Amino acid sequence: MMNDLTLYNPFQQLAIIQDNCFLCGRPVNPTEVIPIFPDWLMAKYNLAKQEILLLDKSILTYAELTLPCCANCQHQHLAPLEEQVQAVAAEGLTGWQQLDEKVIFRWLGKIFYGLLVREIKAEQDPLLQPQFVLTEDIYMLDKMQSFFKVLQSIRVPMVFPDFIPCSVFVVPLQPDAGSAAFEFRDDLYTMMISLKMDDTLLVCCLLDNGIIKEALQQRLWHPLAGKALHPKQAAEFLAQVYYAAYLLNVIPEYFVRSVKPGDQALVVDTLIDDITASVFNPWQLSGYTHMFEEMLKRWGITETEILKNPQQPLSFLFDAAGSFKEMQAD
Ligand SMILES: [Zn+2]
Repeated sequence: MMNDLTLYNPFQQLAIIQDNCFLCGRPVNPTEVIPIFPDWLMAKYNLAKQEILLLDKSILTYAELTLPCCANCQHQHLAPLEEQVQAVAAEGLTGWQQLDEKVIFRWLGKIFYGLLVREIKAEQDPLLQPQFVLTEDIYMLDKMQSFFKVLQSIRVPMVFPDFIPCSVFVVPLQPDAGSAAFEFRDDLYTMMISLKMDDTLLVCCLLDNGIIKEALQQRLWHPLAGKALHPKQAAEFLAQVYYAAYLLNVIPEYFVRSVKPGDQALVVDTLIDDITASVFNPWQLSGYTHMFEEMLKRWGITETEILKNPQQPLSFLFDAAGSFKEMQAD
């Protein structure tokens, strides 16, 4: 069978807010939808009736979060992805660690994109006028278009010759009796998403070509190899990655090579403009501390405590010499 290698751009004429399949653009009727958080995940963690807060402060249940999707994309492209990921999730941490990062990208990317579309739709008829309007932000539109181009690898076979579009961290967790088995966080502006599922924390910046992982490799990721993190350590890890994404100052661009007859996949090249812009804005203690405090909310640990010794801000991961701290579950 010939693959359809035609890409779709929902950002032209804002097709994104109409009833078009989110993945291929085909018009669909209002009953043709998929859940943003897959059914198996909602069943596993009993999420369907739990609530989620959108940027305009409207509250929806997980089950109410849906995306228009044609039958073809549902059956040909999303069902196989969900089957693969569901099987991996059943194995827990080892399953996730062995899964191709490009699959994690597609799976998390679809959830992220689904929420993004919901936010954009909510902006058309907001409960409260949001602080920023996504579709009026040129920088954000650039990001969304770049990201969606490679997210279409869910539907259109794509080869990335020498990069992957994202940074993925699969983080082992210690048992945590004090929190839910499932936790979710995202940040639309920095293209960050993280999901905690039992003993596994997935953390992903969806649009950085792996730059954040590379930048944090030596200082953060490599020293944690083989360690299961205490909940406070996991919070610190999240703060580090979310803050790095906040500092990231470049948007990868993607270019599709011209298609020859008989091609079975698109070959996609990438470019990052690091000539006119620095890749990261400067790291600032105050910004990081603010992020860390946010991640530590559950324990009520404040900025003042984090900065008790400003030369050596609070860390659960590393001691003053930079060695990993062993922490036991409370
Ligand atoms: Zn479709």
